[in-house]
Amino acid sequence: KAKERGKKGICVYSDDMNEEINRRLEITNELENAISQKEFYLNYQPKIDVRTGRVVGFESLIRWNSPRLGPVPPFEFIELAEQSGLIHMIGEFVLRESCQFVKRIMVDYGPLDDFRISVNVSAVQLLNSGFYQSFFRILDEAQVPYYMIGLEVTETAVMENKAYVCNQLEKFRAKGVHIYLDDFGTGYSSLNYLTMLPIDILKIDKSFVDHITVKHREYQVVKMILALASVFSFTTIAEGVETKEQLDILQEMDCHIIQGYYFSKPLLEVDAYKMVLERNPL
Ligand code: C2E
Ligand code: MG
Ligand code: MG
Ligand code: MG
Repeated sequence: KAKERGKKGICVYSDDMNEEINRRLEITNELENAISQKEFYLNYQPKIDVRTGRVVGFESLIRWNSPRLGPVPPFEFIELAEQSGLIHMIGEFVLRESCQFVKRIMVDYGPLDDFRISVNVSAVQLLNSGFYQSFFRILDEAQVPYYMIGLEVTETAVMENKAYVCNQLEKFRAKGVHIYLDDFGTGYSSLNYLTMLPIDILKIDKSFVDHITVKHREYQVVKMILALASVFSFTTIAEGVETKEQLDILQEMDCHIIQGYYFSKPLLEVDAYKMVLERNPL
């Protein structure tokens, strides 16, 4: 759409494409000082146990409010942060903040083995040789038990270097960190890799959940994914659940955990904390 062939077969860039390039440059520039200027903060989206109604954890989601660009969503800046290498510092920020939230919860509840906060990590982070050490240094400094933190990785990230990433994930798991396979079903060769990935929890992508009520293919696919997960003893999470109808179907199918706007949008820490107090009586 954006790119058109000129009369002599020369590539002509349209205004759309120029705009896109400029926007990316601007974001990359503004990202540079965003950490030191404290422009990032986290939202936490609750994960609810279908049977008990309790909050079994949160997913940390980064938010960026740039004074010059306004709010910039992750899908626009994460990729650029990966390209510039800033993703490592962003990842450390996310982990430190998440550890502080875990500590806040521990003041009231103590260490919990059925509650954890998960952080998203991209391939660039997983492939960085310093990642493992930096991860545990941050947890040790904050004195957070390893089993109260989770790592969300996508199939696509694992594929970047399957042998190395699997080996790394195995090392995290050996220390008690839980591994979530994010956006499951959207990568390729899902089934093949499921047999060898060192994971604990499988997150069914929102794109399946969206159409689950139509009782067509997505319904069958989710059923099959849940059956498969059960064979491998994975805990299952459905992402992007927005309606009661979706919830009822997933519950009937024995999906373990629900995440989505139906229960809550991603929240500021103070509201996330209140939700724990409400749903998880002491
Ligand atoms: P994800 O890890 O799959 O996160 C789920 C996304 O779905 C989040 O978008 C969340 O706000 C959104 N969501 C949750 N429930 C619903 C729902 O019911 N309806 C709809 N329409 N959306 C829902 P968000 O926060 O914009 O994040 C997008 C992606 O950016 C994430 O996808 C993740 O891949 C990436 N991301 C976010 N935070 C980080 C981070 O700290 N580090 C890295 N590396 N990536 C991150
Ligand atoms: Mg995620
Ligand atoms: Mg996801
Ligand atoms: Mg996603």
